[in-house]
Amino acid sequence: MSTGDSGEYYSRRIGMPKYHHAICINPYYEESSGAMGFFPPTGLEYIASALSTCVPRVTIADLRHDSEFRPGPSLSDFIRSEGVDFIALSVNWEFKFDEALDLVSFLPSEIYTIVGGQEASVRVDEIMNRCQNVDCVGRGEGEEIVIELASGKPLTEITGLSHRLNGSVVHNENRTVGPMENLPQRDRSLRRVTYGIKRYGVKFVSGELDTVMSSRGCPFNCKFCSFNRNPLGKKRDYEERSAKSVFREIQSLEADLVFFVDDNFFVNPKRVEKLCDLLIENGVKKRLLAQARPDIARYPVLLEKMKRAGFKILLLGIESAHDWILKDLNKGYTTAQLREYFDVLRKYDIYYHGYFIIGNIGETEEEMLEIPRFADELGLDSISYLKLRALRFTAIKDIVETTPGYYTTSRGFVYSDRFSMEDLRQIGKKIRHEFYTPKRFTKALRKLVRIKFAARRDLAALLFRGPLAHYNRRRQKRSKDKEAGS
Ligand code: SF4
Repeated sequence: MSTGDSGEYYSRRIGMPKYHHAICINPYYEESSGAMGFFPPTGLEYIASALSTCVPRVTIADLRHDSEFRPGPSLSDFIRSEGVDFIALSVNWEFKFDEALDLVSFLPSEIYTIVGGQEASVRVDEIMNRCQNVDCVGRGEGEEIVIELASGKPLTEITGLSHRLNGSVVHNENRTVGPMENLPQRDRSLRRVTYGIKRYGVKFVSGELDTVMSSRGCPFNCKFCSFNRNPLGKKRDYEERSAKSVFREIQSLEADLVFFVDDNFFVNPKRVEKLCDLLIENGVKKRLLAQARPDIARYPVLLEKMKRAGFKILLLGIESAHDWILKDLNKGYTTAQLREYFDVLRKYDIYYHGYFIIGNIGETEEEMLEIPRFADELGLDSISYLKLRALRFTAIKDIVETTPGYYTTSRGFVYSDRFSMEDLRQIGKKIRHEFYTPKRFTKALRKLVRIKFAARRDLAALLFRGPLAHYNRRRQKRSKDKEAGS
């Protein structure tokens, strides 16, 4: 029932059920990362699982995928007809924040409503003012807050809660959250939809996808990073679950594609090695994906075990092809070290995707355009570039704000007198075109098949829906333009 002893931990705190049917809503119809909207809403599922320890019925409504809740009145109809008496919403992103609040404010006002999540934690007053039907906002991690709330603890005693009192909003003091091992086990039976890796609307990798959170926090201090902070902006202390506990969770999953959503999964290589041993010894066969730092190459024994345990894809934050930028971003390695790391990484048949940042402070176009050549030299299978973002609570935000000629958009993207957002987009396009030659694209797809991450037929479907369809559209447009001109 629980990760560690969390079931007992929570049940000690529960009285008679105060509410009978809670709905946990992901109030976004689109994903902030566009085509990557295939992950289950991990945080919301933890909230739902926590609630299920004290509310008899819990429903998760992931509006991105659940066709019953497409835009329109269907969500409110469901809430009224199914006897929902507690609503929890997770407002995590600045992206589509207004749309999310519009949706919140149209929910039935007679039902007790709490809003939580990353963005909600720092925009409490705005939410309370704009959505008069919202009774309270949970700031920071919300599992313990919703349990106390649903168990009837007096509002004034719930730390981390902002609530209405006599016509004003009262902010209780911040909450110190308990250790990770106290989190309730994620109850995946609450899900109404299944998840899979999609691109261009096609599920191009067969199998169900799930996420696992095995640790929180990261001891590094990359200046642009907001992942290693809690929703209140405080840097998290690194904490991890034991290899055994993570193993048990993976073993219990129906999905055979498992993505680790940790900020930095490989902080403790010994723990990952032990997890690999457990997966290998027990014959658990999953396709595993994780984000990593390239310096994982310092542990070749671990890499060998990872390959045997089913790690197929590593997503690596490379960030730049230039030492001065890596230093400015405080990445903790140089380009020479990156070359050494990849000399090791290339020996293991794992698919490596590299992330790069463009538009760094002081970076020239020529320097950005070095990315494809450097990525090729390292032997990356695929790359993506991200425009520099200066998000709330990050060190880079202060730097951007004090650097003349640099600005941020409302979503935190950095642009400058020298490079507008459109200029950066065009540079990004050049990087993509130079890197993704037909030969490289084919090679990457072949590798995905060879390492048994994807099947040949799935990739064919992807090609027809994606790049080939795109190519045909461009060809048709060109010939139409030609006809119009002649
Ligand atoms: S290593 Fe990754 S998670 Fe850690 S601070 Fe840097 S970017 Fe953030």
